[in-house]
Amino acid sequence: MSFVSDIRLRDSLVEAARAKLVAGDHLTQEDGIRLFDAPVLELGRLADALARDKHGDKVYFTVNRQLNPTNVCVLACKFCDYAKKPGDPTSYTMSKEDVLAHVDPEITEIHIVGGLHNKWRFDDYLDVIRWVKEKKPDLSVKAYTAVEIDFFCRLTKKPADWVLTELKNAGLDALPGGGAEVFSERVRRELFGQKIGGKRWLEIHETAHRLGIPSNSTLLYGHIETRAERVQHMIDLRELEMRAPGFFAFIPLAFQPGNTGLVRRQASAIEDLKTIAISRLVFDNVPHVKGYWVMLGQDTAAAALNFGASDLDGTIGLEKIAHAAQARSPVGMAEAGMVQMIREAGKIPVQRDALYRVVREYSRRDEPALAVGA
Ligand code: SF4
Repeated sequence: MSFVSDIRLRDSLVEAARAKLVAGDHLTQEDGIRLFDAPVLELGRLADALARDKHGDKVYFTVNRQLNPTNVCVLACKFCDYAKKPGDPTSYTMSKEDVLAHVDPEITEIHIVGGLHNKWRFDDYLDVIRWVKEKKPDLSVKAYTAVEIDFFCRLTKKPADWVLTELKNAGLDALPGGGAEVFSERVRRELFGQKIGGKRWLEIHETAHRLGIPSNSTLLYGHIETRAERVQHMIDLRELEMRAPGFFAFIPLAFQPGNTGLVRRQASAIEDLKTIAISRLVFDNVPHVKGYWVMLGQDTAAAALNFGASDLDGTIGLEKIAHAAQARSPVGMAEAGMVQMIREAGKIPVQRDALYRVVREYSRRDEPALAVGA
């Protein structure tokens, strides 16, 4: 049985998308753009059917912690409220003790990203991974975006496969998906001209996948990008997944205007839900689309679980980057809160680690856990 095959839809645009998926075809850029004009609930029903074909009613989350070792950055991307110049009184760089203080005994994943420090050497970045692995060898380490990997290549004058192999030997398990922003060159020139573009981001993730390092992927939307650029970004990722599989999840990141002055208001909740649903339908070969509650807010993230999202990210702990841009969500959520949010969406909570290994599967309702295991 397939939910996508069986679902009955009233809207002709959404029905045309369904027919293509049932026939085994991928949606084109034009299909994706047109779907933004489709009725949002119909769109959600089809995206939810596709997510259910992949995962049933399971929704994944992780008990994790964000570690942002420094906000000192040599670049100055226009949309970034987090980075500080060296010497700025609000800049910080963590010591080994600060880093180790983030390794709580109950977490199963640590997510490490930060600025491109003017004084740090590649070894300093390797040390952060070595320290957390020494303290908790079973912790899965998701660390350093493609922007950081490219920076390490320039620091060491070595190619990406060498840098990634060194990181893997130090204990890296997976790459996060950040730094992709929007692959459009137009947007890059306008907002982050010094930073790597889509071609280099895709090249680094392809290299990682070929080395057996899985990764996530992101899209920063709701600023100056067009819907066409948004959909093309999803298609570029879909094509990479076909060439070199290795993505776990796609994470549409709702832009937080913060103090950047870039746009007056971010995408509406409806635009967020449409983007999540269209991501699920266009990037149809990625295992999960994530409702990243830190940027979406808890209410929209909960709704996203019926619009194609099958992952909520994690409990997070002391996240600094989105909150530097004044994200209004709490800085962390307890495991019980994640479980409740998933259950309220009518789904089954599953705790996972960074490599999507199941840590604990909960019951659909408030009953004792069904299984506990590694
Ligand atoms: S987005 Fe990343 S690379 Fe750009 S200024 Fe901020 S921390 Fe630095």
